Amino acid sequence: MDETIKAELLSVGTIAIEESLLPPPRTSTAGPGMGLQNVFFSSGGLRVRLEVNRDSPLKMTRKDDHVVISRDNTELAEGIIEEVVAHCPGQVYITVSERCIYNCQFCSVPLSKGKIKTKEEILAIVERAREKGTLKVIALTSGIATSPDDEIDRVADIVKSLVPYGVPIGVAVHPAKDSSRKLKEAGVTEVKYSVETMDPEIFDRICRGRKGHTLEFILESLREAVEVFGRNRVSTNIIIGLGETDECVRQGVEYLAQMGVIAVLRPISISPLRKEALEHAVRPSPERLLKLTTMTREILEKYGLSTRESQTMCLACTGCDLTP
Ligand code: SF4
Repeated sequence: MDETIKAELLSVGTIAIEESLLPPPRTSTAGPGMGLQNVFFSSGGLRVRLEVNRDSPLKMTRKDDHVVISRDNTELAEGIIEEVVAHCPGQVYITVSERCIYNCQFCSVPLSKGKIKTKEEILAIVERAREKGTLKVIALTSGIATSPDDEIDRVADIVKSLVPYGVPIGVAVHPAKDSSRKLKEAGVTEVKYSVETMDPEIFDRICRGRKGHTLEFILESLREAVEVFGRNRVSTNIIIGLGETDECVRQGVEYLAQMGVIAVLRPISISPLRKEALEHAVRPSPERLLKLTTMTREILEKYGLSTRESQTMCLACTGCDLTP
C-alpha cells in the first residue's frame, strides 16, 4: 500500500471482509468508527482503518498468512490485520464520557447518551493492557457530560492516576478556560482541541449548541496550548467533506501551522444516525485527499512542524487519515 492506494481505501472507508478474518466484535465508543465494527489494515508502513460493511466495493480475503484487498477483482494491496489494543493498534485510547451536551451534526456521541466511565473502569482497561504487555501509549477523549470546565477537571483527575504508568498520555477534548495548564500539570503529553472546520459559516451550521464556545475560542485555546505543550504537541481535526473549499482548507492549515498547530484532515464519516443532518456531506475523492495532504505536508515543512514527532492519538495512529 502506498499513499495513492491508501487514499482510495480511505475514500471508500468500508470493507467487505471474509467471515473467518473478522476480528473479535468490538465497536468504537468515539471517533468516526463509533458504534461500528472496524478493521485496521497495515501494509508498506501505512495503516488504514476501514468500517466492516458487506456491501463495500472493497473486498478483504485471506492469502497464505496475510490478507489482500481487492476491488472489481483487481488486487490493490497485500498486508496484515492489526490487533486493536483499545480503540486502535498501539494505544489504549479510551472515551471517558460517552455522552455530550452539545449537538455537533457530524458526531454520534450526543445521540448515544452513553455512560461516564469511572476512574476505576479506566484504570482496569489500562491495567489489562499492561498485563498483556501492550501498554505503550494512553489516550483519552471525552464528550461534555455537564460543562467543558467540569470535563477538563474530570479528565485531569483521571490523568493524574495514569501518570505512574510512565507512558505518553494524549487528550482530545473540548477546551475550557485554562484547560491547557490544568492538563499539563496533570501529566498530559499532547493535546487535541478540534476546530472541525475553519469555515465559520459551516462551523455555525454544524456545531450547534456550543454556547459561548466559538471557533475563535477554540483557536485561542490552541494558541495557548502551543505555549504550554510546545510545537508538534498540539493538533486539531479539520473535517473534509462538509462543503468547505480547498482554498479554505489551505488557509486554515496555514493559519494553524503559523501558531504551531498540526491539522489532521479527517474525511467525513456519515454515521447512519446523522444521515439526514449530513445529506449534503461528501466523502472526499482519493484525488482530493492526495491534493490536500500534499499541500498540508508542504505547509508543515514550511513552518518546521512534523507529524512524526507525535506519540499519541490520531497523528500517531493515522488509521482514519492520509497523514503527511
Ligand atoms: S486515527 Fe484517530 S479516530 Fe481514527 S482510529 Fe486512529 S485514533 Fe481512532
